[in-house]
Amino acid sequence: MKRGRKPKHWSERKVHDGIRHRLYRFGITTEQYYQILADQDNRCTICDVVFADGGRLHNSPVVDHDHETGRFRGIICHRCNVVLKYYHTVQYFRRVIDYLEVSS
Ligand SMILES: [Zn+2]
Repeated sequence: MKRGRKPKHWSERKVHDGIRHRLYRFGITTEQYYQILADQDNRCTICDVVFADGGRLHNSPVVDHDHETGRFRGIICHRCNVVLKYYHTVQYFRRVIDYLEVSS
């Protein structure tokens, strides 16, 4: 960022192309996208991290959907999306919880 320039508030930034494509796919307008972000206080629904501005940072916002039904679920961070990409069943996370509770 250039010196002296005030960073834009997240709600004033442009939706980057990757997210715009996904919004279109799920029938979500840019306005709805920003409303969802506002409802979530600009944080990941899962881990509560504050979203960064686009790109592929661990805390950049990702439009998440159920891979089986195709249904839009919410906006989560890139890191949580990577986790869900590989481990997306409730049974798996119940086992993780059991494992952590028993082993800690
Ligand atoms: Zn997250």
